Amino acid sequence: MDLGLKDWVAIVTGGSSGIGLATARQLLAEGALVAICCRDEKRLAAAKSSLLESAAEKRLLAMQCDVLDKAAVDRLAATVEQWVGRCDILINNAGQARMSTFADTSDTAWREELELKFFSQINPIRAFKPLLDKSDAAAILSVNSLLAYQPEPYMVATAAARAGAQSLLKSLAREFAPRIRVNSVMLGLIDSGQWERRFLVRDDKTQTREQWFAEVARTRHIPMQRLGTPDEVARAVIFLCSPAAGFITGAQLEISGGTSRHM
Ligand code: NDP
Repeated sequence: MDLGLKDWVAIVTGGSSGIGLATARQLLAEGALVAICCRDEKRLAAAKSSLLESAAEKRLLAMQCDVLDKAAVDRLAATVEQWVGRCDILINNAGQARMSTFADTSDTAWREELELKFFSQINPIRAFKPLLDKSDAAAILSVNSLLAYQPEPYMVATAAARAGAQSLLKSLAREFAPRIRVNSVMLGLIDSGQWERRFLVRDDKTQTREQWFAEVARTRHIPMQRLGTPDEVARAVIFLCSPAAGFITGAQLEISGGTSRHM
């Protein structure tokens, strides 16, 4: 299916790994021009060379940028403006989760988590809004978590912060309509960099990758009996940002293998 994204300009924060990298790759395959960012220079360079295996250099911009650093995000927007003069799609994907219960989450950790989940949205949206305003079909997509609706006590701060960010996105969908659509995906467990890191520090080192991930799916009661893949998320993300989803705004699409219990 041609999603009509040829020569569109898309920004993917956290584009060096997992879901962000898969999304950048699929956008390039759809003919879009793509800018990715992350904090770590080495991982950024590796992602850039991997993406350039199947895309022309002039179609990709890779820039180091911490989305919590407002000045750096403003510089990213200025660089994109200089590069192509436009931005049609902003995908706020950068981030990570914090595993902790209320008992072991310090005030500092609470503040860090709230800052990450809110300002990883607020900084890029503020910086790219003037460019998005000029697009005929602008879209913002947030990669959020099912935890926003279905909190788990062992991820108390992440779940609370995710719920707040989801509320922000619903408000923005109304405030920015009809110029900019705002949607989100609510993820269950996706086999990406975050889970790879958890696998590497597993307690039982005799467990193979397959065994360890199968155990995660079983203990987390995922009806599809596996974790999702970054490519499965990327396909949904790109659809929601494309003209094919032109009447969809303020929506959240769950990608969780059936994990949610709410209606
Ligand atoms: P990865 O760890 O594979 O990718 C995370 C990406 O975000 C990396 O490129 C990382 O690069 C970047 N990043 C993290 N913090 C910042 C920052 N402050 N500024 C800029 N870039 C940053 O994980 P996923 O692909 O799984 O994560 C993508 C999103 O999906 C995250 O927001 C995550 O919380 C969310 N999510 C994932 C789930 C899962 O099961 N995988 C479940 C629910 C939500 P670098 O470290 O170099 O900055």
